[in-house]
Amino acid sequence: MSLVENLSLEPQPKRRKIDPEVKESPSRNCSHWFVRNKVCASCNTIVDNYQGRSFDYLYTGIQMSNEALGFTKRLISQTSWLEDKKLHLVLDLDHTLVHTIKVSQLSESEKYITEEVESRKDLRRFNTGFPEESLIKLRSFVHQFLKECNEMFSLYVYTKGGYDYAQLVLEMIDPDKIYFGNRVITRRESPGFKTLDLVLADERGIVVVDDKSSVWPHDKKNLLQIARYKYFGDQSCLLSECKKKIDESDEKGPLNTALRFLMDVHEEFFCDWSRKDLDSVDVRPLLKEISLRWKRKADGVV
Ligand SMILES: [Mg+2]
Ligand SMILES: [Zn+2]
Repeated sequence: MSLVENLSLEPQPKRRKIDPEVKESPSRNCSHWFVRNKVCASCNTIVDNYQGRSFDYLYTGIQMSNEALGFTKRLISQTSWLEDKKLHLVLDLDHTLVHTIKVSQLSESEKYITEEVESRKDLRRFNTGFPEESLIKLRSFVHQFLKECNEMFSLYVYTKGGYDYAQLVLEMIDPDKIYFGNRVITRRESPGFKTLDLVLADERGIVVVDDKSSVWPHDKKNLLQIARYKYFGDQSCLLSECKKKIDESDEKGPLNTALRFLMDVHEEFFCDWSRKDLDSVDVRPLLKEISLRWKRKADGVV
């Protein structure tokens, strides 16, 4: 979304010439909303032991107080809703958009796949900088999914994988940085559970698509859980659940279903928009309502 990229916390060029003096003594009246490299952007005081959240992945050295974070999240979402009619969508990588496996874990009957890497765009082999040679397989329909989601949402990646690994996947799914820009949260920024606190948008306007719900202990209401993508038949998995075959075709696969679901969410969030109150709109009850409707339809109740 343009605002996230353009929201500049840098001082204006005019001020930069003056180069304000950094003060050592704390300012009594300032609540230090935005701190850059330990200096408050408002009162220019050095702030030690600052309790704010770091947003290094978006702006190097930037931290925000809880108050500033709430304000910025609201501002970004409301601008996005009003100007672009876009919500925010947070996407997991592993088992949601890709399946990655160590080459050593491929079964005998799958080893031939490594020979096809050069000729296929949905496969990538890597080992530089990583402990073991691995293969990334893109889920079918992923390109179309991202293209269409980008029309309705500002996109984020949020993965438990490392930063370098995420960059490898992004080179496959978003080589020109059209979809995600620098809105990529990895284990580096988020070593524990996943949290929407790190996403610079109002929780009332964020949808998460992830195959795992346990990694989102506090944000389950925002979650659309997708069927786990498993392309390679990892032998270490003996659970019967792993062996269930999912239709992964472009037309009927889980990414296609998720896209149609997200289209419903987007349409209903913005329908009758002029009559809605910005402070009370919320995508979370809508997700619940649409899930129930889809479930009833699938069960043949409707
Ligand atoms: Mg996952
Ligand atoms: Zn301050």
